[in-house]
Order: sequence, then C-alpha cells, then structure tokens
Amino acid sequence: MTNEAWGKLREELIKRVGRNNYTTWIEPIRLAELRGPLARFEVPTSFFGDWVSRNFSDHILRQLNASGSEVARLEFFVPTAAPAQAPRVSQAAKIPAKTARPKLAQRRVASEEELPGAALDARFTFDSFVVGKPNELAHAAARRVAEGGPVTFNPLFLYGGVGLGKTHLMHAIAHELQARQPDLRVLYLSAEQFMYRFVQALRDKQIMDFKEIFRSVDVLMVDDVQFIAGKDSTQEEFFHTFNALVDQNKQIVISADRAPGEIKDLEDRIKSRLQCGLVVDLHPTDYELRLGILQQKVEIYRQQYPGLQIAPGVLDFLSHRITTNVRVLEGALTRLFAFASLVGREITLELAQDCLADILRASDRKLTIEEIQRKVAEHYNIRLSDMIGPKRLRNIARPRQVAMYLAKQLTPRSLPEIGRRFGGRDHTTIMHGVRKIEELIATDSQLSDDLNLLKRLLQG
Ligand code: ADP
Ligand code: MG
Repeated sequence: MTNEAWGKLREELIKRVGRNNYTTWIEPIRLAELRGPLARFEVPTSFFGDWVSRNFSDHILRQLNASGSEVARLEFFVPTAAPAQAPRVSQAAKIPAKTARPKLAQRRVASEEELPGAALDARFTFDSFVVGKPNELAHAAARRVAEGGPVTFNPLFLYGGVGLGKTHLMHAIAHELQARQPDLRVLYLSAEQFMYRFVQALRDKQIMDFKEIFRSVDVLMVDDVQFIAGKDSTQEEFFHTFNALVDQNKQIVISADRAPGEIKDLEDRIKSRLQCGLVVDLHPTDYELRLGILQQKVEIYRQQYPGLQIAPGVLDFLSHRITTNVRVLEGALTRLFAFASLVGREITLELAQDCLADILRASDRKLTIEEIQRKVAEHYNIRLSDMIGPKRLRNIARPRQVAMYLAKQLTPRSLPEIGRRFGGRDHTTIMHGVRKIEELIATDSQLSDDLNLLKRLLQG
C-alpha cells in the first residue's frame, strides 16, 4: 500500500475518532512501511507515537484490515535515528538462530518474520514494574523464572483480572532471560496467536514444522490461555506441546484471567497439568500500588517534558478515583500529559477533572444488583429467573444467597431494597442469606474461592 492509499483510507478514520482527534493525531502520521503483518508509521515524537498507539491502534488496525491488508501489529517510530528515539512502542521478539540447530535453520524458518513469536513491548521490564502487596508474589515468582536457573516449578501460572500486569510480567521475564542468555530460545505469544499459527500450519500442511518449532524452544510463554478454552484441536495441540516441553524440563509460563480450575471448557487433563506448577494470582490494585505506579510514570514523563508541572494532590486524586485497572490509570495520565503539553498548562486538579471526565464517570459506574445476579447465575449455571423465583432447591438457593451477599457487600443498597430485587423477598430473608454465606466462608474454601472470583469479575 502506498502513502497515497493510506491517505485516502485514513480519512475514513474521521468517522471513528472524530475530526479533532483526526487532525491532531492521525493526520501527522505517515505510513512508512507495510510488510506482512507489520505496519510501521512515522511519528513526530515518541510521546506522540505512544499516544496514538494507546488510543487509536484498534481503529487504525481495523481500517487497514477492512481495506484488505492483513496487519496484526503497528509500530510507531521517530524517523531520525538518534538512539534515544529508536522505535519505542514495540520490538519484535527474536529467536536467535542457533547453529546448533541446522535442521531448523534449513527449514522454512527463513526469516524472523516467519517465527511464531509475538512482539515484546520494550517498556514492559522489571525496572518499570511497580511492586506492591497485590502483586508481590507474582513478581517474585516471575523474577525467579527470569533468573533462568534450574526449573523449580513448571509451569508458572499467573492469573488475575484485566490490566493487572500479567503481560507486563511475562515480557519482563522474556527481556531479562534474553539479556542474561542471548542464546536462549524464548518464545512469547498469546494463546490466540498460538491458535492462529496452528490453524495456519494445518491449512498449509506444515504441522510437522509447527510442532518442531514449538518443541525446540527453551522457554515457552503463552498469554491469555483462557482463549483456547472450547477450541478442541488447539487445546489438544497445546497439551502435547506443553507435555513435550515439560518432559524436556523446559520452563513454561502461562497467564490467564482466572485460575486453571475456573476456566470453563478447558479439558480436565489440561487443568490439572496447569495446576502442577506454581499458581499465583495478581490481586486487584490497592491505593498504594496505584499511587506508586502513577509516581513512576510521572518520573518518566518529567524527563520527556521537563517544563510540565503537576500540582500536589492530582496523583492522590487519581489513585482514589480510578480503581478499575492499571491500563485505565495509565491512559488517564498519558492523556493528562498530552493535553497539558498541548495547551502548555500546569496539571491541576481542575484540569484533571475536565480532561478525564469520561474516565472518571466510567470509574464511578455503580454495580447493579441485576448485574450481580446475572454473573452469579452464569457462574453456577442456573437460570436468572430461578435466581429471583421461589425455588428452594439447594443448588439454586445457595447461589441466590451468594448473590444476596454480594449485593450487600458491593452495592450501597439496603436490605429491603435488595429484597425487592430478589422477587419481593422480605429483608429478613436477605439478612439470613447474607449471614449464611458469612458463616460458610470460614469453612468452605470452594465457596470462598467462588466469591473471590465473582468479586473480581464484577469489579474488574
Ligand atoms: P494484563 O496482561 O494483566 O491485562 P498488562 O500487563 O497489559 O495487564 O498491564 C496493563 C498496563 O498496566 C501495562 O501498560 C502495564 O505496563 C501496566 N502495569 C500493570 N501493572 C503494573 C505495575 N505493577 N507497575 C507498572 N505498570 C504496570
Ligand atoms: Mg495481558
């Protein structure tokens, strides 16, 4: 595709991002190269590239692909080749070609492009990962794996809600391993990419190559493995790859949005295999962690924008108000700095409230009892109507009590109000349900796991 074609195509983006965003962010970027799944764009500053990448990548990708390209990845770079301005947004994962593996080298793996690894984000390092109570275990485990010593637990299974740092930790492991042992064949990819490669290999009748590549790595990292649940032959292949590597004592790192046992439609043998190693979860962030992350980001921005001032109290305000996840938190800060630098003003509380109104409003979103009922019904596989209806069977009554308990805990609603939404039940019934669950939590670990998961899903 030429820049001219891109010029036409990008105008379509006006509809998606609005005229203002278009003029400010899209018009200035230039398509430099489109090669296979990679599209590279020139941007005026790395901050600019960062911003476009975070806010408009999805739109640009969709637009490119709507016009028939098969782009999977965007890269933004500053054209002058000063070292500090090298491509910052992402960096292709490398599997060093090893002379010790002539067979592979002679095969179809002719260029890096064909290797199945995904891009590593250069920013996702251990240095830039802020450790706090909610993630300290996960961080320690990741560090251990990154040392590259003898495999002590296999796999390392990291799980937690969206935006809590799973991908960041995995990339950090890959960077660190690669720095310590450049010859190590470290392969990082998402479960979705794993499936995509697998299907492609099947289609192109190159399944033996596929198997060989995946079985020849030293460290395999698969992100968001919940994605392959319910995809039977991909699961099967994943299972075999997994076993082959474990047998060779190769380290495997897996992430998912929930614990292995909680992933629906994942084969039992895979679940139990995944549970064999070390399973650690990343808990939702707390105030201190959020503040720490913001402070660290501000340091980075300060270097880029020495002139920019940020008023006291702004970070505190953001850490209190934006509790959803780190990605949103970071996005908010990026937007604040971009805005302040464009208008040349100090970042005050007022500016923050104005500029982030939509994010703040979304974070304020109140959880409804209806949402709780729906999630709980889904989790226990019962009908939503039974949740509200009169049935007293244990397998319906218990989930109903769980929903009552969560409604009491997670919403500001009173017992009579909750009662009304549970088919007009009396407030004493609700109280009884809440107490029952409180009692059971102490002794029933399955129930307390269920509650943790549900809370995470509802607040995530
Ligand atoms: P997940 O894969 O769990 O959905 P990511 O790893 O993609 O989440 O994290 C989302 C964003 O938040 C990334 O930009 C990441 O750098 C940042 N982030 C998450 N946790 C931390 C942390 N503890 N310290 C610094 N940045 C973090
Ligand atoms: Mg992720």
